[in-house]
Amino acid sequence: MYTVKCRKTTGVQTGCSTADLKDQSTQCGSTKGSYLRNEKKENFTNYENLLQNYLWDKDFTLSWLKDEGLIAPSRICTIFGSEMKLVKSGDRSDGYYWECRKQVNGKRHRCERSIREGSWFEKADLTIEEVLKFTYWWCQEMNQWQIKQQLQLGSHTAVDWDMFCREVCEVALFDGREKIGGPGKFVQIDESKIGKRKYHRGHVVEGQWVFGGIEEDSRKYFIATVEDRKEETLLNLIKQWIEPGTTITSDCWKGYVNLSRHGYIHKTVNHSVEFVNEEGFHTTRLRVIGGK
Ligand SMILES: [Zn+2]
Repeated sequence: MYTVKCRKTTGVQTGCSTADLKDQSTQCGSTKGSYLRNEKKENFTNYENLLQNYLWDKDFTLSWLKDEGLIAPSRICTIFGSEMKLVKSGDRSDGYYWECRKQVNGKRHRCERSIREGSWFEKADLTIEEVLKFTYWWCQEMNQWQIKQQLQLGSHTAVDWDMFCREVCEVALFDGREKIGGPGKFVQIDESKIGKRKYHRGHVVEGQWVFGGIEEDSRKYFIATVEDRKEETLLNLIKQWIEPGTTITSDCWKGYVNLSRHGYIHKTVNHSVEFVNEEGFHTTRLRVIGGK
């Protein structure tokens, strides 16, 4: 089992309770030599920071997760609606669970709930620490194989978590709602088919076409699911999401041939690169759309 020694750093506990993974280094850095260097990269938490500031102690990690809203700060008994108590437990990897022992008509009722319920950690066959490391490394663009090696995971677990992380990003993309482009601006459009997935948490179903566009420089985007790639289907979405006068770049797909008749400047690029991962799933091509 791969383990990393967590060094306890004094004075970190209180300062970090509401810190964000992204900007903690400026708030919580010790006064050692690396502090000034950290200050310049305020949006980056390196792995050392993660271990020292968040994962050095299980109790601290849990209280930090609660403060960040990543796990529930309190629980109500589903039967009696009463507050549950957080109970320490030595025989579970989480270290704690929620328990209720309400006395009703002289009888002691007892129920319990996991601290993971309804959270990112729910149903994971990993410790909370492992999930955090996986998520951290995934966000740092470490690939699935590398993370699998670091955490000594089984292939299925690594695939599942990789897909799960991607889905969350997709769901976030689907929430984009702003019209993009305009005269003098460049928008790249592309369509892609997304394969089947294990966690049906997004709006994506098996074999679903998605169509999207991203504005250069600002990185504003739109993305939508489509039934087909017919000219009319795509043109309606283009009109809905892209301001007239925009310079649109796309691949050579025939569905785009008439864009210039609809108030757009159209340029084609041949970037027929298909992102297919090791499992044969198509992934979103927004990276291609956004690529230079
Ligand atoms: Zn109860």
